[in-house]
Amino acid sequence: MRLILLGPPGSGKGTQAARLEAECGLCHVSTGDILRQAVADGTSLGRAAKARMDKGQLVPDEVVVGIVEEKLQRPECRKGFVLDGFPRTTGQADALGAILRDFSAPIDRVVALQVDEEVVVARLSGRRTCEECQAMYHVRLSPPQAPDVCDRCGGRLAQRDDDREEVIRRRLAVYEESTRPLLDYYAAGGKLVRLPAGGPPDEVHAALKAAVGL
Ligand code: AMP
Repeated sequence: MRLILLGPPGSGKGTQAARLEAECGLCHVSTGDILRQAVADGTSLGRAAKARMDKGQLVPDEVVVGIVEEKLQRPECRKGFVLDGFPRTTGQADALGAILRDFSAPIDRVVALQVDEEVVVARLSGRRTCEECQAMYHVRLSPPQAPDVCDRCGGRLAQRDDDREEVIRRRLAVYEESTRPLLDYYAAGGKLVRLPAGGPPDEVHAALKAAVGL
């Protein structure tokens, strides 16, 4: 199964993709996680991307397309994958189509997670992410057992620089302008499923699996 999860920041793409990886063995490909790791490692990719990420702006298409192309060639992605946070522009969607044509491995389904803006702001402003393993928590909805310590690996939990309210609003505006057009793009190909995603993660997970036949 090859899936794309679309939806604004905070719609639950990362949470749902991680669960599909854990339960269904799909390779979770998150361009945001890969870029944050590059920033943490201080690589040239990370140094180039950081300023844009901190401001809530998109990293150039050619950069993220290169990352995804490399990742999709890995053996763990051959059995199926779920793309989280990519594509974000029609240019990226065209590039993805070309890459997958080369692999003879078309996308099976595109799921658009739908949530209201105020839910997104509440989710993201309370979000805390493990600096080591990227596991996600919420100060109120899913707190860690010990404050600011990851249950899974003991790493330090921090607020992402781009999860501050003014940056969240900018990321939502970027989503509306650059990424929302992808709903029509994929609807035209008959692959799009729209899924209400304002409820608890378990409920969304069950609905998502049913929607894609997993
Ligand atoms: P995310 O974790 O998906 O919310 O991504 C965090 C940030 O990484 C975004 O605000 C962008 O700056 C950058 N980013 C992640 N994925 C992409 C992408 N497909 N295209 C451009 N920028 C991206």
